[in-house]
Order: sequence, then C-alpha cells, then structure tokens
Amino acid sequence: MDHSGIGGFRKATLIYAGALALIASLSMITHVMVDAIVQRQEETARLVNISGRQRMLSQRIAMMALEMAQNPSENGRMANDMGQVIDLMEISHKALTYGSAELGISADKSLAAAQIYDAPPFSLNAKVEAYLEDARTFLALPPESRADSVMLASLLMSAHGPILQSLDAAVKQYETDSETAIKRLRHILLGLVGLMLATLGAEALFVFRPLFRKLEQAQVILLDAARTDPLTGCMNRRYLMDAAGRSVALAARTQTPLSVIMIDIDHFKQINDTYGHALGDEALLVLVRTILADIRASDFLGRIGGEEFAMVLPDTSLESASQVAEKLRERVMATRITSDDADFSITISIGLAQILPDDKDFMAALERADKALYKAKQNGRNRIEIS
Ligand code: GH3
Ligand code: MG
Ligand code: MG
Repeated sequence: MDHSGIGGFRKATLIYAGALALIASLSMITHVMVDAIVQRQEETARLVNISGRQRMLSQRIAMMALEMAQNPSENGRMANDMGQVIDLMEISHKALTYGSAELGISADKSLAAAQIYDAPPFSLNAKVEAYLEDARTFLALPPESRADSVMLASLLMSAHGPILQSLDAAVKQYETDSETAIKRLRHILLGLVGLMLATLGAEALFVFRPLFRKLEQAQVILLDAARTDPLTGCMNRRYLMDAAGRSVALAARTQTPLSVIMIDIDHFKQINDTYGHALGDEALLVLVRTILADIRASDFLGRIGGEEFAMVLPDTSLESASQVAEKLRERVMATRITSDDADFSITISIGLAQILPDDKDFMAALERADKALYKAKQNGRNRIEIS
C-alpha cells in the first residue's frame, strides 16, 4: 500500500497548523498594537489636558495677584485661594516633569519635549519653577506692599508671555510626538495585516490547493479500487452488476437487444494443482487480457467469482453474441501461458443468454446464462451453450 499520501497529509496538516499559529500570533500582536495606540492616545489626551490646565492656572495666579494688589484690605480668603492654585499648579508641574501613576502619565518624553522643559528657548521647567517661586514670594509680602512689588510685575509679565508660550509649545510637542508614535504604530499594524493576508494566501496556495488535489487523487484511487478486481484489473462483481443494471434499463428504453456471456475456466482446479497457484493467477490475468483485447468499447467484463466472468454486450443480439463468444473461446484456447518450466493453455466454457422483455432485472438473464454454462460443462466443456 502507498503511504506517501498519508505522509503528505500529515505534512500539510503540520504546515496548516503552523500557519494557523502564525496568524494567531499576528492577531495577538495586532491586538496589543491597537491597545498601545489607544493607550498612547489616552495619555496624550491627559497630557494635553493637564498642560492646558497649567496655562489656565498660570493665568489665574496672575489675575489673583493683580486683584489682591488692588484690594490690599480684603485678601485673607483670596490669599488662601491663591495658595491652593499655586499648589495645584506645582503638583501638575511635577506630574508633567517626573510622571505620575495616579494621573496616568509616564515620565518618558521625546527629546524634543524634554528640551522644551530643560533647554532654551523655552526652559519650561525653570520658568514654571521661577513663576511659582515668584507667586509664593508675592503671597508672603505684606498686603500693602504687594501693589508696587517686583513680584507682581514679574508675574503679570510672565503670564502674558513666556509661560504661556512655553506651555503652548509643550502642548504642541505632545501632540506632535503622539502623532508620530501613532503613525509608526499604524505602519506596523498595516505590515502585520499584510503579513496575515500573505500567510492566508500562502496557506490557500501551498496547503489547501495541494491538499484538495491529493483528496481528489485519493478519491479517484478509492473509487477505482472499489470498482476493480485487484488480481485481473477488470470490473469486480458489484460494479459489473451496477453497470449491467444501467445497461439493461437503457436497452429497455431504446428497445435494443442486450446479451450476457458467462465464462468459466475448465478444470481450473486441476491447473492450479498441476502448475501451482501463481501460474493459476497468471492464467486468470491472461484470460482477462485476451478477452479485453477484442471487445467493443460498449461491452464490459467483470469477474463474478473465482474463475468465473460475465460479459455484458449492449445492443447485441444473441446471434452476434454467440459469434463473439466463439471467437473468444478459440482465441483463449490458442493462447499459451508460459513460465520457466511450464507451457500450457486453458479452455473456457461459455453460457449465453439475452435479456427478455419479461425479465425484471439483469439477474434474470445472468441466471439463464449460468444455466447455459452448466449445460456447456455437462456437454463436455470448451464449448458454448445458448439459453
Ligand atoms: P470446471 O471445469 O467444472 O469449472 O472445473 P473447475 O476445476 O474449474 O471448477 P471448480 O469450481 O471445482 O474449481 C474452481 C477452482 O478455481 C478452485 C480454486 O482453487 C480456483 N480458483 C478460484 N479463484 C482463484 C484465484 O484467484 N486464483 C487461482 N489461482 N485459482 C483460483
Ligand atoms: Mg471452472
Ligand atoms: Mg467455477
């Protein structure tokens, strides 16, 4: 038996499983990437939000300072409020500078963002710290001296210019960084999807196509095996019966004759005993080859028992069939079966019958042919009898 087909299936299955695992991994990586993009966007939103609030707080501090300078008598509550705003701005600033797990902000910054914090022209870190310092110093001044203080001038100047611009620059940089990161992630994502599609395509091409082709081949082989007699290669009994049934139906519809020939090797047991089973097999093969060499394309032959064969001849009268049978009998008798130490020929007895209008199936005609064959055996073998 040929096992290469099974090995091929196993290999294809392995490749298929491998491709599935690859697609599953790619899907998981894709999922992680999408998650990273979403997280990145959320963090940017938080950064932009906090930086925007810093802008607002810086403006409020300046406005409160101005208001307190203008109302030196009423500022106990205002000083308290301003202190809170300063604290809030400081907390936010620390979160933006060093990161904050609570606010969901990491300390990692792009080089450009870090430069906005640490280097000129923006030096945001120093500016915010100086601003908060000024604000605190301002608060610590006696109320009546606040209006003319350097601190007030410094706070107002800073709030309208440098702090605002630097915080703006930070917000813009966060947005740019996020866009760049998302663009990069998107490219990777596209690559992954492309890879998945390519894997699927390759799977269809290199796994499924060959697999289906192998299945088709296996089906053809199976079908053939189910229909063929393994020793002689002619039809087996079951397939002959099927085919004969269809031929009988067709003959009835077209009102054409159909003949059946039963063939049995004479004294085959003796041949086996004399020359051995292997040469007996060879004789069966030679017989089938001899018959098939000379029949019409529409005729067919099947092995229905050990050394018994039946032939169906559609569109053939009993008379024509008997001529065919006679020719076969003579040809078989004239054919030598040889080996190193044997040289013999066989003879066959033949029974003939024709399908009749009253026959309900092929079996009826086959039984009559079998009876005729029995008669041929009784009448001396190597002869033809017609039912
Ligand atoms: P008859 O002329 O009356 O038909 O005599 P016979 O010996 O041919 O008939 P019988 O039915 O007594 O014996 C048939 C023999 O066919 C017996 C069996 O060993 C042989 N035979 C059946 N199938 C095979 C086969 O596949 N190979 C071989 N070598 N012999 C087979
Ligand atoms: Mg026999
Ligand atoms: Mg027999």
